Amino acid sequence: MKIDTICVQGGWKPKKGEPRQPPIVAATTFRYETTQQMADLFDLKESGYFYTRLQNPTNDNVAAKIVELEGGVAGMLTSSGQAASTYSILNLCSAGDHVVCSAHIYGGTYNLFNVSLRKLGVEFTFVDPDASDEEINNAFRPNTKCMFGETVANPSGKVLDLERFAKIAHSNGVPLIVDNTFPTPVLCRPFEFGADIVIHATTKYMDGHAAQVGGAIIDSGNFDWEKHPEKFACLVDPDPSYHGLSYTKTFGKAAYIVKATAQLMRDYGSIASPFNAYILNLGLESLHLRIRRHAENAYKIAKWLKTREEVAWVNYSGLEDSPYKALCEKQFDGGLPSGVLTFGIKGGREASIKFMDSLKIVEIVTHVADARSCVLHPASHTHRQLTDEQLRAAGIPPDLIRFSAGIEDADDLIADIEQALAQIKE
Ligand code: PLP
Repeated sequence: MKIDTICVQGGWKPKKGEPRQPPIVAATTFRYETTQQMADLFDLKESGYFYTRLQNPTNDNVAAKIVELEGGVAGMLTSSGQAASTYSILNLCSAGDHVVCSAHIYGGTYNLFNVSLRKLGVEFTFVDPDASDEEINNAFRPNTKCMFGETVANPSGKVLDLERFAKIAHSNGVPLIVDNTFPTPVLCRPFEFGADIVIHATTKYMDGHAAQVGGAIIDSGNFDWEKHPEKFACLVDPDPSYHGLSYTKTFGKAAYIVKATAQLMRDYGSIASPFNAYILNLGLESLHLRIRRHAENAYKIAKWLKTREEVAWVNYSGLEDSPYKALCEKQFDGGLPSGVLTFGIKGGREASIKFMDSLKIVEIVTHVADARSCVLHPASHTHRQLTDEQLRAAGIPPDLIRFSAGIEDADDLIADIEQALAQIKE
């Protein structure tokens, strides 16, 4: 099936007389007839549902659709994008391990890695994704367990060269984990460029209606954990919490996801609500239509902004003069990365605030990837405690406006921006 058909029909395959939509299984527990039947589930000898913290049929049906979309072999939903990022790392790393990570990632992920996971003893080296192979290779250590990056960074828009990053990761004997939230598998399928594991904040375009918070982890099944048995003893060696079972020997290509489900979900419990999974699936049914429109609108708006004298700068990797244009053509179906762009208004922080407050259709919210266009001004919102100087040091110009193009008519959006720009001069 092509990607558009998978968006609509992937995952749940109802049998005769069953509901067309994946049913919401609002149940914590599942009944069995004998003690032995339940014991076999606990020992992972049989597959089946017994407690929703581990697995739930609604969640699995929706995860199966995302696995098909990404072209992977196994996947799972989590309660948020943050939970997906956390599990993707903790499934391979414990105290004393190390990760090489692109410096251009979502601020929440940076904080999670650089503060919270560091407190647990996992070390991170952040590299400029545009640095030379040599510089990036130098960041690896004997205890490095994986490499992490964002296909399209939030909010810088930098595009990760997936093939180059995958080659570097593999030559150092570790998998590449990629956050593919911004392009979604409709525009980019990282496994085709050598990435090994993909994660998503399904909260964003996959849902697309600002209706649920969720995450997903998908494994390509391509990374050979047994080739590096010392590095990935956690997957290869017997797991004492599962009576000496080896994930790679018992589950083959599904080892990574089975471990994340059986061990991390069991212990940390960030399960997605089946209700949220149902809402997510409704979003996925139109993802192929929406994400292309989001990207086209962002492109039109970016091009128009470039013609305006009130605008100091515009950053959208899909523009013809972007240094990432060639990479966009290679990695993204249609050559556009996502619906998010950033720009600055002449006049700095004050002018940006006046501009944002003057918008009528475009809404001020802490979100991206909604069907409704929205804006955020990091200097006034997410990073409001910083001075202009501190903002610049953090790579965020005080005038930076993050604009998430919705799926409205682009002419209406441009007209709204035009009238708001006119207000600055008043
Ligand atoms: N990854 C990216 C690229 C994001 O933009 C976000 C949130 O904005 C996340 C991960 C975290 O997702 P969530 O808010 O669902 O935890």
